[in-house]
Amino acid sequence: MATQLIGAIEAGGTKFVAALARPDGSKLAETRIPTETPVTCFPALAQFFRDAAREHGAIGAFGVASFGPIDIDPASSAYGTFTTTPKPGWSGARFHDVLGEFGVPIVVDTDVNGAALGEWQSGAGQGCKTLAYTTIGTGVGCGVLSEGKSLMGFSHYEGGHIGVAHDRAADPYAGFCPFHGDCLEGLAAGPAIKGRWGQSLSDLGSPADKVALIADYIAQLAVNLVLLHMPDRLVFGGGVMKTSGLIDALRSATEQRIAGYIKAPQLDPGLVNYIVTPGLGDEAGITGAIALGRRALG
Ligand code: ZN
Repeated sequence: MATQLIGAIEAGGTKFVAALARPDGSKLAETRIPTETPVTCFPALAQFFRDAAREHGAIGAFGVASFGPIDIDPASSAYGTFTTTPKPGWSGARFHDVLGEFGVPIVVDTDVNGAALGEWQSGAGQGCKTLAYTTIGTGVGCGVLSEGKSLMGFSHYEGGHIGVAHDRAADPYAGFCPFHGDCLEGLAAGPAIKGRWGQSLSDLGSPADKVALIADYIAQLAVNLVLLHMPDRLVFGGGVMKTSGLIDALRSATEQRIAGYIKAPQLDPGLVNYIVTPGLGDEAGITGAIALGRRALG
């Protein structure tokens, strides 16, 4: 019997990355499709997988790591359906509508859980029992894995929208989250930085005081992750985290806020080994999507 292949999708806010891969993770074909709306994106996605399967062999399962909010409960009748996303056209769209024609299992998780899985399997999270992965980019998203399995409650976690201490005298910016104003995402995501200062931190020359302000907001999530989940490591990725000096400022602010309360070998002095950037860089998401598909192969 021929090896069954994996269809993998990393669905992001601006583009989809789709790949056909062998179970060992090696890619046979890959493409990028603008997210736009499901009317344009879904048919192009199906066509890619039809063509790739014709050339390389039958698809045995799909793994999807997607932006959200999205239903990731396999027991739900709406599994794989976008819920309250403000992205025009995507609310109510369902991955099973486009992938159903292949008649194989489909596993859907969030983009951050997918990236966490990729990092756990072959990146900066290898060997961790509990791993937290956070992306600070256009938005803020956060996923937690326990022994390689993403944790959820009645829905996926929304750590990007936690409330943070906000000194309005030091930082008068009101925040941009349409639901909460000055939640973490509202104060620290890319649009908040541009809304406050007109440019990205990198374009501003990464000034230490501004980097420290953003780092302290992100550190409040880092401390909450430690208090709630005691992860073995925290991975921070996304476009904002590429700012020069931000990871160091985040380590320092997190250590100050932990304030010596938790003592563990994982929390090394300076948190250099504890708070890290992704080992797989921008490949974490698609690597995780392939891993999700591999699980569906069984
Ligand atoms: Zn919010």
